[in-house]
Amino acid sequence: MEKIINILKRKKPTFSFEFFPPKSTEGESKLEESILKLLPLKPDFVSVTYGAGGSTRTKTDEWVRKIQNQYHLTSMAHLTCVGSTKEHIKYILEEHKSHNIKNIMALRGDPPKDKEFFVPEKDGFRYASELISFIRNQFSNDFSVGAACYPEKHPEAKTLEEDIEHLKIKVESGADFLITQLFFDNDKFFYFRDLLVKKGIEVPVIAGIMPITAYKQIERFTQMTQCYIPEDLRNKMYRYQYDEKELLKISLEYSIKQCEDLLRNQVDGIHFYTLNQSNATFLILSELFKIFPITIL
Ligand SMILES: Cc1cc2nc3c(=O)[nH]c(=O)nc-3n(C[C@H](O)[C@H](O)[C@H](O)COP(=O)(O)OP(=O)(O)OC[C@H]3O[C@@H](n4cnc5c(N)ncnc54)[C@H](O)[C@@H]3O)c2cc1C
Repeated sequence: MEKIINILKRKKPTFSFEFFPPKSTEGESKLEESILKLLPLKPDFVSVTYGAGGSTRTKTDEWVRKIQNQYHLTSMAHLTCVGSTKEHIKYILEEHKSHNIKNIMALRGDPPKDKEFFVPEKDGFRYASELISFIRNQFSNDFSVGAACYPEKHPEAKTLEEDIEHLKIKVESGADFLITQLFFDNDKFFYFRDLLVKKGIEVPVIAGIMPITAYKQIERFTQMTQCYIPEDLRNKMYRYQYDEKELLKISLEYSIKQCEDLLRNQVDGIHFYTLNQSNATFLILSELFKIFPITIL
């Protein structure tokens, strides 16, 4: 299977999906169904998240291998520093290597729910940049390494400029490409992308997109990520919050327009946060492929 950085070198934009490892048998069947529905769209890669504090580690491993071996898709395993020593991280990476996993999304992770701040393990990593340096020192170029970035700044950073200074360290430590936190306002993304270029950060930046399919998600997303949701979208969704069909229509129209604008502005890739649901992502991407038919070839 291919390294994502090599895919990005020969093909832009890329289209990719993110899944989380389900906890129940029912969730597993639903994820299988979603993958099968999305398979004909031929994603360039698929990524599997790593649950808070490593809670899903074995499930992440299981799914990332299954997606690669059974569905023959390039897959990427997320990995966080939370609750792990260097030794443990090394073991996880060796396991990935032995199963021919070639892509790692290297993250710090969020503090556990009962803690306000992230505290590294005694022999662990404080920042994602330290994890990335470790991967490069121990495994050289065995993996293509992705890292997270935040067009509206990471919630803990004082300013966007300060966050970008830290991002530069992360890229210089060996990150090959970046995937953004979800966002709904493209102007914020374009402004951020320009700032990265000014700061000499030149790795590909893939846009993270999440279609909102329920009104109650708005509050959750803004709390979680502090991203801005345009008033117009918020008001429309409020008005139709109990009308599932209309809500989906509004959400799809918005996401299609947002992606279309990104593609017209030479985005390096679009990564869909699917929440393990196939419907919205399938409809959005199918529509985009009609507008930009060349991308499916
Ligand atoms: C695409 C994507 C995928 C994700 N997948 C997962 C997942 O699978 N599992 C999961 O638990 N979480 C995931 N997250 C969430 C992520 O773990 C959190 O956002 C976390 O709070 C920060 O992770 P990071 O890797 O960006 O951290 P870092 O890059 O380490 O940054 C964290 C904070 O520290 C600051 N900082 C960084 N370096 C320095 C430095 N040298 N000096 C001082 N300050 C510094 C940064 O400005 C930032 O405020 C994902 C996020 C994104 C955008």
